[in-house]
Amino acid sequence: MRTFGYTSHPSRVVFGSGTVGRIREEAERLGCSRLLLLSGPAVARTAARLREVLGDLLVAEFDGAAMHTPVEVTERALDVLTRARADGIVAVGGGSTTGLAKALAVRTDLPQIILPTTYAGSEVTPVLGETQDGRKVTRSSQAILPETVVYDVDLTLGLPLPLTVTSGINALAHAVEALYSAEANPVTDRQALDAISRIAGALPRLAADPADREARADLLQAAWLSGTCLATVGMGLHHKLCHTLGGSFGLPHAETHTVVLPHAMAYNAPAVPEVMRRVADALGVPDAPSGVHDLIASLGGPTSLRDLGMPESGLARATELATSTPYPNPRALTGEGIGELLAGAWHGHRPEGPPSTEAKLARLTDEVVASFARTPDPRVRTLLSGLVRHLHTFVAENDVTDAEWQYAVDFLTRTGQKCDPTRQEFVLLSDTLGISSAVDLLTNSRTPDTTPSAVLGPFYVEGPPEAVHGSDISGGLHGTPLWVDVLVTDTDGELLKDAVVDVWQSNEDGFYDVQLPDLDGPVLRARLRTDSDGRITFWSILPSEYPVPGDGPVGQMLDATGRHPYRAPHLHFMLDAPGHRRLVTQLFVSGGAYLDSDTVFGVKNELVVDFTSRSGPTPDGRKVDGEWRRLDYTFRLAPQAG
Ligand code: NAD
Repeated sequence: MRTFGYTSHPSRVVFGSGTVGRIREEAERLGCSRLLLLSGPAVARTAARLREVLGDLLVAEFDGAAMHTPVEVTERALDVLTRARADGIVAVGGGSTTGLAKALAVRTDLPQIILPTTYAGSEVTPVLGETQDGRKVTRSSQAILPETVVYDVDLTLGLPLPLTVTSGINALAHAVEALYSAEANPVTDRQALDAISRIAGALPRLAADPADREARADLLQAAWLSGTCLATVGMGLHHKLCHTLGGSFGLPHAETHTVVLPHAMAYNAPAVPEVMRRVADALGVPDAPSGVHDLIASLGGPTSLRDLGMPESGLARATELATSTPYPNPRALTGEGIGELLAGAWHGHRPEGPPSTEAKLARLTDEVVASFARTPDPRVRTLLSGLVRHLHTFVAENDVTDAEWQYAVDFLTRTGQKCDPTRQEFVLLSDTLGISSAVDLLTNSRTPDTTPSAVLGPFYVEGPPEAVHGSDISGGLHGTPLWVDVLVTDTDGELLKDAVVDVWQSNEDGFYDVQLPDLDGPVLRARLRTDSDGRITFWSILPSEYPVPGDGPVGQMLDATGRHPYRAPHLHFMLDAPGHRRLVTQLFVSGGAYLDSDTVFGVKNELVVDFTSRSGPTPDGRKVDGEWRRLDYTFRLAPQAG
């Protein structure tokens, strides 16, 4: 629970369009019959309209108000007021004209009606800052607070865009500092946040169309809300700096606020992160100080004190003035810190917010990729850099947790532990994730005239037993006899002799020999060499569909994802011919199960072939009772590159 005090300042507010027409009524409400009108050349048309509306109530005019309310100007205006025996003051214009009205009111205790034409917010505060002999002195009293404020949106429609931007940011500054004021309270917090989002919404709309009446109304309401905050709670570093720069270096008020605000916010941000988060939310940006800077820059507003005419040599003096007397501010003021702040504002640097997680991740990725920069082999460098970038993106996009990554590491560890000379769980993982097939597709695309390749699979064993033509590689295992008669050619159809052809397959129950420890030696795998006709022939048995091994991590993954583990029935081939590229492929049994959902995504239409059903005499006269099958196929190998 928060303990707070709240003071409201009793002024009457009339808000709308065309409300200038109600000034006579408002003057009479205050009991005034002899009014002094304060205006200026920039609002000459409004002054003319006021003359019309006020009629005989108007007895004198003064149009010489100046920035920062110089006392000598007030004295001249006071002379006009006294001679006219005015009993009330009407002021139309920006904060300077309002300041003059306040300066006269505090000296005469006369009631004021203010028609603001900028967003400075002075009209709702009981504060007056006056300059004399180059020093700005501020005081506060109820006599200073205007009795009536008439906001007429129409009076702001012609305010030039540059003034609109700087004055709007002036209002933003009141709201921001109110949020981290020592006297902040729930009422001003809400007013401030409402003001901030109205300003952030209205300024870009006005940049597109300065006469957008609704945006003007939003901004004018924001000015009122921000001014109310300024009137109610104490301001901090930002206002102090602007006060110093305006009073001692003659810098223009709203422009100075515009340049300094992002820097003052960045200075205070570490002390009030929660406030800055609320400001950022209200602005709709990730980081409040840099967000304000970006808003100003996008609207073409000033971003450097240098451009406002501040001499660089004055920075040390400004730092000294801003830190000479203590005042409440969320972050302790140090000469060094304020010096850096002012230097940043002088140069117009963009205040850097704390880097976002995305920015930190991007930096980390770049750092890791850069660590490969001196890799001698450019291909290794490319592959490792790409792998790191993709893995980092994967981690970021999926917001991977520590526990999930630990699980992944454990999964890969178990995958490795499952591997031995006859069991390749990593190949199985690559196959079941479709990576082997993806590599394969690329291989095929590079050699379109050859027989398509297919995945190696996990059951290849180096150095299979040599077999001669026509021999039986089934080791006597039960199954439908299969006669294989294949030719090996190059891409021109030339038969290739002395090609080494390794072949391996499952038995009729779907097991490879390495999965059957009771078998004596390698069976259903062999190495043959093509004869002078580029041919090999051998007997085997018809392969069947089979599940990939389910007793390892890959099996767990298939289970966990509801995938079946089956491979379509096939025969593996690995072909090496002198002067030609190695071809690793599979021939699938046409009509076999799982051709359309092979668990390693290895089936290609060109590799689905007839294992034709036969009975009766066999090619080599072997006696077979009942059905036997026949596979005839021609492999085409690509020439060795380069
Ligand atoms: P301003 O009143 O000097 O106006 C800036 C310029 O805009 C002037 O040239 C003015 O003629 C012109 N202008 C005003 N309205 C216009 C319109 N509708 N169309 C075209 N031009 C127009 O500046 P400001 O920023 O409004 O106010 C700054 C002054 O107010 C400073 O002296 C500052 O100290 C004071 N102020 C005081 C308080 C307070 O609570 N005491 C609060 C904010 C500002």
